[in-house]
Amino acid sequence: CGIIGILGSHEVSPQLVDALRRLEYRGYDSAGVATVDASGRLDRRRAVGKLVNLSDRLVHDPLPGHIGIGHTRWATHGAATEVNAHPHQSGPVAVVHNGIIENFRDLREELSALGIQPQSQTDTETVALLTAHYMDQGLPPVEAARKTLARLRGAFALAFLFDGEGDLMVAARKGSPLAIGHGDGEMFLGSDAVALAPFTDRITYLEDGDHAILTRAGVQVFDAEGNQTHRPEARIDSGA
Ligand code: GLU
Repeated sequence: CGIIGILGSHEVSPQLVDALRRLEYRGYDSAGVATVDASGRLDRRRAVGKLVNLSDRLVHDPLPGHIGIGHTRWATHGAATEVNAHPHQSGPVAVVHNGIIENFRDLREELSALGIQPQSQTDTETVALLTAHYMDQGLPPVEAARKTLARLRGAFALAFLFDGEGDLMVAARKGSPLAIGHGDGEMFLGSDAVALAPFTDRITYLEDGDHAILTRAGVQVFDAEGNQTHRPEARIDSGA
């Protein structure tokens, strides 16, 4: 129900959980974070229930890394269990998602015919499975994410993180809001400007059908036709 992404300069797990707290008002039943650490390793932690369960988990089992994504889930497909909590990971890809992938059953059947089976009951996991499949076929991360996005029907805000990629995040929106925050050598992604307020007041809203490639140096935005485009940057009054 809420998405956060940080390409930062410090350990991001605590920042991700803090930002998720600012999205709590939307409601949620479980939460999780994924990071890529200094050695390039993609990993995740998830917990059912309140965010304190996730932060407790992170105290006992820390998740290092200066880049990461976080999610609060409001289950639509699959019960509120840890296995169904986001981020969903398949091999070198982790994904967080708000909304519903309407054609996930068709995609699941297609993957199943290739011998690829889901671990969860969610619609979201098919996005991770499909992207990992395209990477397995030799596509680089961004192209694999793009090819996956072209297959999705429904409403979504999505963020992708990749194993071995410590300075890359892909984001997309169709029907669910998503904002990009500009920092100083850091970049941020969030469901709304409220979640990004502690980090920056320089916000770019993605438009419907856009996808974005984020690195610490900046963001490239592409429209629904796949053409690179410019979305204005606004200063949001953080009230500070
Ligand atoms: N449809 C997804 C799920 O049930 C995402 C729900 C959400 O927006 O949090 O896992």
